Amino acid sequence: MNYLSVPDALAEVLKHIQTKHVEHVALHDSLNRVLAEDVAANRNHPPYDVSAMDGYAVRFTDIEDANPEHPVRLKVVDDIRAGQMPTIKVLQGRAARIMTGAPTPQGVDTVIRVEDTQEDGDDVLILTPPKQGANIRSLGENLMNGKTVLFKGTAITPGVLAILAMVKQKQVPVFAKPSVAILSTGDELEGLDEAVDAHKIPDANSHALYAQCKALGIEAKLLGIARDNPIELKAKLTEGLKYDVLLASGGVSVGHHDFVRPTLDALGITMHFWRVAMRPGHPLAFGTGASGCAVFGLPGNPVSSMVCFEQFVSPALRRMMGFNKLHRRTISARLSHDIKDRAGRAHVVRVVLGQDEQGYTVTSTGTQGSGVLMSMAVAEGFVVVPEQSEGLKAGDEVQVQLLQGMDFQE
Ligand code: AMP
Ligand code: MG
Repeated sequence: MNYLSVPDALAEVLKHIQTKHVEHVALHDSLNRVLAEDVAANRNHPPYDVSAMDGYAVRFTDIEDANPEHPVRLKVVDDIRAGQMPTIKVLQGRAARIMTGAPTPQGVDTVIRVEDTQEDGDDVLILTPPKQGANIRSLGENLMNGKTVLFKGTAITPGVLAILAMVKQKQVPVFAKPSVAILSTGDELEGLDEAVDAHKIPDANSHALYAQCKALGIEAKLLGIARDNPIELKAKLTEGLKYDVLLASGGVSVGHHDFVRPTLDALGITMHFWRVAMRPGHPLAFGTGASGCAVFGLPGNPVSSMVCFEQFVSPALRRMMGFNKLHRRTISARLSHDIKDRAGRAHVVRVVLGQDEQGYTVTSTGTQGSGVLMSMAVAEGFVVVPEQSEGLKAGDEVQVQLLQGMDFQE
């Protein structure tokens, strides 16, 4: 009971997670956020047909037979710059010199690049014709006034931000970020600011989880370390429940001093599960409170805590921020060695990538013990050996979840 497979546990988490409310942020602050409303263009861009090249605006029928041996001679009647409206209609046998971005004059349908022409006094010689209509950007090619250009749910990349700037969205509607609190628990833990005591264990989880949130664009609040006693835990957990998400690590197992679950129970948190068939990361508790807080009781081992964050917390946080793509992008790679395993739990193996003529290769980072934090420090990805699998063989095609960067998929 309450012992879920990784996909079932993830589905259970996401079932309880809602996207946050809409807020407006300054254009530059909208980068890496998610658009919360459709955005329509407030103008035509370009506002008229413009030249895409420096060259000559011509009537195609005048120049279609031009070639270097028999160039076509046209009289240059105008010189049009960007930002200037042409006043002269170009008649048969004539051309207008035109700059990139300048509006094309009446009468023309084609622009010849300056490289395909030769000046000759007041005339221009056309040496090679392009296709009819070439080198003209038509009105509204970028933006059509009133038409939706960006849809709700769009992740704001630099390219998207450029469009927001073009339609003058100085304030951008985005989904709010969740507030996140982080608490480490354990009598043996030593805080970052405390003096080194050879008998203690330095608190890695607070900072690892902080960094994992930060990598998603969330500035989490560190609540420090709670000792393994119910009174101190209760006080700290109560503080944490004021946030949208509380990440408490350590003390969620079945040990004699593991008070996190009973204390959360006492605080009225509904526990949806507290075990997942995953290695590392087996003791993982997830609950929700009446206040709307989602609580993750993460395992104390730093590797387990980080793996659980990637598999369960990160998708939840991204859903709150409105992203459609919740999961790390996966790529196919060939395993460079056997991985022995036992059936019964999904095994999240930390790996590094390589490449050969046939594509990506993937190799374990080495010792996979859940206490070996170096495996996370060097990992570029995860290979998940499925719950029922008894191991993988060298040469097997596997999916690798990429851990670095901001590349996600649905
Ligand atoms: P626990 O889940 O409390 O039983 O802890 C499992 C293991 O993880 C123990 O060896 C703890 O010392 C270690 N541990 C727990 N919390 C942290 C932390 N915040 N930083 C580093 N190690 C931790
Ligand atoms: Mg502990």
